[in-house]
Amino acid sequence: MNFSLTNVPDFLPLAEIENLQVALLKKQLRYIQANSRFYKGKFSIGEIEGISTVSDLSSFIRTSKKDLAEFNPDFLSISQREVVEYVTTSGTTGKPVTIALSKANLKRLAYNEARSLSIAGFTADDIVQITTTLDKGFMAGMAYYMGLTELGAAVLRAGQGSPEFHCEMIKQIQPTALVAVPSFLQKLGLSASSFTHQIKKALCIGEPLRNKDFSDNQLSINIAKCWDLDLRSTYASTEMATAFTECSEKKGGHLLPELIILEILDEHGNEVADGELGEVTVTPLGVEAMPLLRFRTGDLARKYSSPCACGRNTPRLGPIEGRLAQMIKLKGTAIFPGQIEDVLHSFPTANPYLIRLESDDNGMDAVTIELPETCTHQDMDTLLVNLQARLRVKPTLKRSSISEIQRILFRGESRKPKKIIDTRNAEN
Ligand SMILES: [Zn+2]
Repeated sequence: MNFSLTNVPDFLPLAEIENLQVALLKKQLRYIQANSRFYKGKFSIGEIEGISTVSDLSSFIRTSKKDLAEFNPDFLSISQREVVEYVTTSGTTGKPVTIALSKANLKRLAYNEARSLSIAGFTADDIVQITTTLDKGFMAGMAYYMGLTELGAAVLRAGQGSPEFHCEMIKQIQPTALVAVPSFLQKLGLSASSFTHQIKKALCIGEPLRNKDFSDNQLSINIAKCWDLDLRSTYASTEMATAFTECSEKKGGHLLPELIILEILDEHGNEVADGELGEVTVTPLGVEAMPLLRFRTGDLARKYSSPCACGRNTPRLGPIEGRLAQMIKLKGTAIFPGQIEDVLHSFPTANPYLIRLESDDNGMDAVTIELPETCTHQDMDTLLVNLQARLRVKPTLKRSSISEIQRILFRGESRKPKKIIDTRNAEN
């Protein structure tokens, strides 16, 4: 790779970015063709050499999460001796899978994250407290750590812990920035508002911060009530090993052109128009251990290809609006748990909560939201009115004890709370 943190392709003219991506894509496809058992025979050298634009990729096969789970060992394209790390996916849908990394891929991951953090405005002057898991086979935690050290920032690997624990660390080290899940940031802000600190910004993962028009969502608004932080959203997954991160404009996460190719596809696998909703489908570049071709993430979002006001010419990926697997058809209307969550986040007494997606006796989708006993009948009535206004249909609300909700949230040693329980198919 000829790129470094001081020489990035983001500001190149669009045609040059396209040429760069085409060259890297062909190199990646040649590598996959020669080394991957899973993709063997699924495309030819002639097809690779016939590529002249990124959109020519559309004739190649897509890879699903099911393929990766079912044929997991067939994706390994290096010898076991060359593997330096195994990570696992968080298993939010389907079976958890193992992803192997080579030494070069670990370096690629560090470079990717340093690029992402740099777009988010992090510099070598920052002292950063990481509040996410760094163990249990979790790739993202390591990526933040490596990316920050690559950037030259000072890191405090605090990991998961209570707000009280993190506040002690904040008082002791005086960090300038955080890496955190937004809902945790809200909790931490309530505790951190009682003392003076130097924290000015946060890289946010796992939950979106914006609505589809890029305005702040309820979670973002709630965080702003607790503390004055420059919040930047980053989106990535273990399989893509590449991040899309917001610049100062906060109009979607920028694509890193030397590391990934992004397609937004409809249910038939055709590319949707710019700014239209579809499935995020990615081809990571420069991955040698377990390369993936046109990997279907199951996440729904929009791509914006117009140049950004920050000066970058790279496309941007809008907030994740839902997961394909969690789409619910309620009385003929398609809704996503994220829309329900955004409404719930505006009710302080509706936390913690569980969203159950079930099949009713007629095989139709049904949604039940479990709320804590602290949520009064009056709150529930108002909540129902707001949910109906937002979704156009009414889910069922019920109350449970906080301890029961907490028990279900962290079932099976989960490293993040599982707020959505989907029992509509056997895999979940
Ligand atoms: Zn930008």
